[in-house]
Amino acid sequence: MTSLDQTSIAELSGRFSGVLLGPDAFGYDDVRRVHNGMIDRRPALIARCLGSADIADAINFARTYGLDLAVRGGGHNVAGRAVCDDGLMLDLSLMKGIHVDPARRTARAQGGVTWREFNRETQAHGLATTGGVISTTGIAGLTLGGGLGWLMAKHGLAMDNLLSAEVVTASGDIVRASNDENADLFWGLQGGGGNFGAVSWLEYRLHPVGTVTSGLIAYSFDCARDVLKFFREITSVGMADDLTIFGALLHAPDGAQIAVILACHCGTLSDAEATLQPIKKFGTPIMDTIGPATYEATNMMLDAGFPRGALNYWKSNFMMELSDQAIDTLISQFAACPSPMSGLLLEHIHGAATRVGVSETAFPHRSEGYNFLVVSEWLNPADNARNIAWARESYDVMHPHFTSGRYVNYLGDDDGEDAVAAAYGPNHQRLRTLKAKYDPTNLFRMNQNIRP
Ligand SMILES: Cc1cc2nc3c(=O)[nH]c(=O)nc-3n(C[C@H](O)[C@H](O)[C@H](O)COP(=O)(O)OP(=O)(O)OC[C@H]3O[C@@H](n4cnc5c(N)ncnc54)[C@H](O)[C@@H]3O)c2cc1C
Repeated sequence: MTSLDQTSIAELSGRFSGVLLGPDAFGYDDVRRVHNGMIDRRPALIARCLGSADIADAINFARTYGLDLAVRGGGHNVAGRAVCDDGLMLDLSLMKGIHVDPARRTARAQGGVTWREFNRETQAHGLATTGGVISTTGIAGLTLGGGLGWLMAKHGLAMDNLLSAEVVTASGDIVRASNDENADLFWGLQGGGGNFGAVSWLEYRLHPVGTVTSGLIAYSFDCARDVLKFFREITSVGMADDLTIFGALLHAPDGAQIAVILACHCGTLSDAEATLQPIKKFGTPIMDTIGPATYEATNMMLDAGFPRGALNYWKSNFMMELSDQAIDTLISQFAACPSPMSGLLLEHIHGAATRVGVSETAFPHRSEGYNFLVVSEWLNPADNARNIAWARESYDVMHPHFTSGRYVNYLGDDDGEDAVAAAYGPNHQRLRTLKAKYDPTNLFRMNQNIRP
């Protein structure tokens, strides 16, 4: 279908609570934009939903008129899955409802909420759940794909804290999924991304989290080998669940290359002091910001490094070990980095995030290890080719050190179907069967697609 039937749009708008935007409408250009400035797609219609009934009507409309359908939660997917050319963009970003039940330690939040908004409400009660590492990402996309974050070693991945969800399926039905209701669908939502429907509400388990001990400790680049070896040493010795740490090669605000350890300890201040002392005593840092902070502030400490509209190209893969050779490769590759906004990250995973069976949820990566992430980020479109080439090369030179698994939320547009299979490993076939049940015609395909 190339042009939309105006009578049908008028009929939809007659009962729609939210806003329908066509290409000529005021605000269209702003709303179609997502976090990654590389993405420049023009949907035929944007449906800015206010509730589940709007979502159902928009899904029925897309299905009836054979339109491509993209679902936007927080709009942070680097591959730009939240928006499509010519089709219908189902935009949930006006859906900001959040209700915290402090007695039950749960929170219900709508599909357009970001972690910053979620934390603000839960932290008012001294509670939190695992979110991402920065606060501007959407809760929905991040949770449905897994959710690596500062509290994951203590409380599991974001999706491990999902208690239930309300889903609008490809047939337009509004269903609830939990361990007790549509349990097969709930299993698929825990890692299977947006493949099974548009999620209007997510209910999370919360935990008492107030002041944590967090920040980063930075060293000059000529110490990078020692710093990464030290990072390997501390991540190899059965770390406390309270502590989540990442190692990284980044740029300082003045553009200087630095080696960094980022940490968040969510236990008592005295435990944190004892646990973090070896890190704080290591070498001669040029900066050390590790200290007490609210969890809310911790989730925002890296936000400034990821401005909306910057140009992004990311690649990632899981690694079980960090060999001397891998460390040397990381350092020489980072030395050639063309942008002062880019970095190479090692997100360490252990503790509660690894104490879940491989097939208990759709997300199968439950071994202790690292997620290697190339964040290539720049501002000038004239530099696109150079920065994309550097990211691809960084991924390729690290390839000999990878294990087979990939994290679905970091997959790029050019990663292909094999990457989705690698992301789901032994759970892929079961997900395909589930997809055939809930979305047999693959209406929800503008995502890291599981084919029915
Ligand atoms: C700066 C930055 C930092 C990040 N940090 C982390 C991190 O710390 N940890 C981590 O695990 N990941 C992180 N990510 C990756 C992130 O998890 C994914 O990009 C995720 O898709 C973002 O969720 P979103 O709702 O913002 O996605 P969107 O771009 O809105 O959507 C992406 C896809 O998710 C699905 N989706 C979104 N909302 C819904 C919904 N309500 N119902 C059904 N499907 C939906 C759709 O299939 C959509 O195609 C980061 C990404 C960026 C750009």
